[in-house]
Amino acid sequence: MSNKIDILISKEQLENRIIELGKRIKEDYQGKELVCVGLLKGSVVFISDLIRAIDMDLSIDFMKVSSYGKGTDSTGVVKILKDVDEEVTGKDVLLVEDIVDTGLTIANVKEFMAKKRPNSVKVCTLLDKPSRRKIDVKAEYVGFEIPDEFVIGFGLDYAEKYRNLSYVGKLTLDKENK
Ligand code: 5GP
Repeated sequence: MSNKIDILISKEQLENRIIELGKRIKEDYQGKELVCVGLLKGSVVFISDLIRAIDMDLSIDFMKVSSYGKGTDSTGVVKILKDVDEEVTGKDVLLVEDIVDTGLTIANVKEFMAKKRPNSVKVCTLLDKPSRRKIDVKAEYVGFEIPDEFVIGFGLDYAEKYRNLSYVGKLTLDKENK
């Protein structure tokens, strides 16, 4: 037997929503120096579509952070494994995430980024699980709110697999893989 995947958000739904997000971001950032910062690896598929939907000058950069130990109640300080290359002081940073779950990752990254004194730091996430929050953090741009399910595809993985799916699916593990 193999793992079961149920489509939660289709390729078409993703395409349409990303175009809407891109238009809103373009309107909101007129006249600003926008830097879209993707968090590796989960955001790569989303950010590559998103930047093409933002019809204005912008730059991109990437960060990689370690995930804190899951299942703990700690405030989960994340380690910065790769910082941005670009100077962001005075610029407008848009952090691009695949999913905001407990909120600990993005809250930590926001705080880290704010120390570099950009003009602003905002968050754009493809997926949001608001019911799972452990810290009060909101993304200014959200693709889709989803229930508390483990999802894969469109950049999101399970054990490094499924990132290349063009839809977001709910993963149910086969008994043998649990
Ligand atoms: P947070 O710090 O908000 O709890 O977690 C954010 C990170 O946890 C995401 O960037 C992602 O790597 C991972 N994550 C949270 N929920 C899911 C999920 O449903 N599926 C996958 N594949 N990763 C998830």
